[in-house]
Amino acid sequence: MNIKVIIENLYDKIKIIEDNGQLANYIPELTRVNSESFGIHISTVEGLNFGVGNCYEQFSIQSIVKVLSLIISYRILGEDLWKRVKVEPSGTAFNSLVQLEVENGIPRNPFINAGALVIADILLTHLDNPEKDFLDFVKNLSHSREISYSSHIAESEKKAGFRNAALCNLIKSFGNIENDPSDVLDFYFNLCSLEMSCEELSNLFLFLANDGFTLKENTQILTRSQTKRINALMQTCGFYDESGEFAFKVGLPGKSGVGGGIVAVHPKQYAIAVWSPKLNSKGNSYKGMKFLEEFTTETELSIF
Ligand code: GLN
Repeated sequence: MNIKVIIENLYDKIKIIEDNGQLANYIPELTRVNSESFGIHISTVEGLNFGVGNCYEQFSIQSIVKVLSLIISYRILGEDLWKRVKVEPSGTAFNSLVQLEVENGIPRNPFINAGALVIADILLTHLDNPEKDFLDFVKNLSHSREISYSSHIAESEKKAGFRNAALCNLIKSFGNIENDPSDVLDFYFNLCSLEMSCEELSNLFLFLANDGFTLKENTQILTRSQTKRINALMQTCGFYDESGEFAFKVGLPGKSGVGGGIVAVHPKQYAIAVWSPKLNSKGNSYKGMKFLEEFTTETELSIF
């Protein structure tokens, strides 16, 4: 099987299909992007690095960052983390408020916005310089010095961030946010504004395919058990109310963002990142989902 040829052929095929998706216009700055962009990059545990299309162009990774903030807080708090956030799929949209009230401000999982706000709060409490420390972690893992937050995107989201403000305040009222909600929101918007390319993302996520160890330096980022758990959460909660569909069609742990990026991990094999900005009705990249579905079909490799 030649993975490069499969990726090239699928890229050519999916690039020209009609894209029924829409840009995430609830964050106005996210519409200032070429909606036809399409990039793919794979990094394998055997050392293959291969990409096509706009795979070296940076884009707003949005909710993909929630995996990274979760990993750092897991390293800090260990299993105590799960007292603040649960590990159940929500079956609701990423920005939904409905479960929070009845479940006493403990979010269903770390990948819906409610959960990611609690994780942001934990990092604000425990990191000396939250913005800098977080960025250093990401730069080291992706072997790239070029990664930064976008103040334009963070500002744009803040102006329209009424739902996230509602979530954060509701959680605070239950006592599950320690810091000032406006500081938590500012930090959360900054995290979501991080810009990375498919190449940087697949390099960064490769340790999740490698039992928690970086490929280059063999540094342990998470224990094997923690790595399994992060992958399990991506499998069950990475696509909000489309997580079942992603497992059904693609069969890999993964995480999406409203910037149109998706990262998927095949344990013991590879990490792959896809970017195409137009989103389906669940807020996941239309062509990104299609590509990954056909990729695991053609390679006949999935975790199931
Ligand atoms: N920053 C976005 C928000 O909070 C992230 C959502 C996403 O990528 N699904 O709405």
